[in-house]
Amino acid sequence: MKGPRRYQKGTGWSNTSAAVLCTMVGMACAMAMGVLSRVAWAEQSGFLRFSEKAIAPKTGVVVKVLDGDTVVLKEGFTVRYLGVDAPEMDHTSRRHDCYALQAYERNRAMVLGRSVRLSYDRHLRDDYGRLLAYVTTADGLFVNAQLIREGLAYVFRGSEGFSKFDEFVALQRQAVRERRGLHGQCAVREETFYLGNTRSFIFHRPACAYGAKVHLRHRLEFATRWQALEKGFRPCRRCQP
Ligand SMILES: [Zn+2]
Repeated sequence: MKGPRRYQKGTGWSNTSAAVLCTMVGMACAMAMGVLSRVAWAEQSGFLRFSEKAIAPKTGVVVKVLDGDTVVLKEGFTVRYLGVDAPEMDHTSRRHDCYALQAYERNRAMVLGRSVRLSYDRHLRDDYGRLLAYVTTADGLFVNAQLIREGLAYVFRGSEGFSKFDEFVALQRQAVRERRGLHGQCAVREETFYLGNTRSFIFHRPACAYGAKVHLRHRLEFATRWQALEKGFRPCRRCQP
């Protein structure tokens, strides 16, 4: 049986075809790399995020309130309020954090069954794929800010920040000074000092294992927990300072 001539022997033919094949593979690789680097560029430059934002919903109707800072829209999106963190609800054990129920009830009263406007900041989604949005009701109530103003949620900054951080911190400072909501109603066990992380904007009790891991460069000490809150830091979920 005769195979194709070019594969029969180590002739010039087979060398040539190998060279052609290598060149073609090389070109395909180069083109793929080019596409990938352009995608990476688009992601880095924010172009993809920008284009995704352009098609993100600007309005919606709230059909379900999950807790103090998360709702579901009729259009199918889950929305996490940007820049705020309400106390956690535990739907399985029903052992909710202090003031979680009040935050949930207040959130329900503000948005359930209503049409809301959504706007976005640096990131469209959080790590769970939820939309990260500023939410305003049809009659102009800025829900994210209202939760902080009433002491129903903490400012939630994270390492990258958001454009309304200073505005929210001012509201939190006022709520803390007047001991509104959870700032006045939830029991606290005071420490002699607290450790803040200037990167994550989370603060800890001195003995917290997470606090101990904070790099020296990012450490900031607070004499009281109230000082940390007034600077826009939020309590660690583990040591609950
Ligand atoms: Zn901690």
